[in-house]
Amino acid sequence: MRIRVANAIRQTGELFSFETAELFSDQEFGEQTISFAEPISVSGTYVYDGKAFKVEGKATALVNTVCARCTKSFSERIGFSFSERFVKGEDEVSDDETYPYSGDELLLDKAVLDNLFLELPIASVCREDCLGLCPVCGADRNTTKCDCTTEEA
Ligand SMILES: [Zn+2]
Ligand SMILES: [Zn+2]
Repeated sequence: MRIRVANAIRQTGELFSFETAELFSDQEFGEQTISFAEPISVSGTYVYDGKAFKVEGKATALVNTVCARCTKSFSERIGFSFSERFVKGEDEVSDDETYPYSGDELLLDKAVLDNLFLELPIASVCREDCLGLCPVCGADRNTTKCDCTTEEA
């Protein structure tokens, strides 16, 4: 996911807008593998201040996940916004606050994914009122009515 920024380099302080989308490959995040059901779309603005770019964007991703209650697979839409700085060259002191770039293109992948990972819920549920699985027989209570008694003896 790249945006071409030659125009902004020539016009310091001028705000430009961009819109882009790309289907990302599976991403390792902690112990999880994150896969995507559709391209991540990003729109926003970028401005060059003579030294670095400031990129602000809004993104939406559709992430394949599993319901924490009923174990059904489903896709969860995650929207997030971000504001990041991109500093030229690899030799710049790299810290958590900035991303490097070279030439007249900004590679947004890492910035977008870092921000997406911050938004991932710890546990996803297929819907707010998902009834989950019966702890006794394992039936999906959304679709099956079982006769198990789950009261503590
Ligand atoms: Zn569920
Ligand atoms: Zn049951």
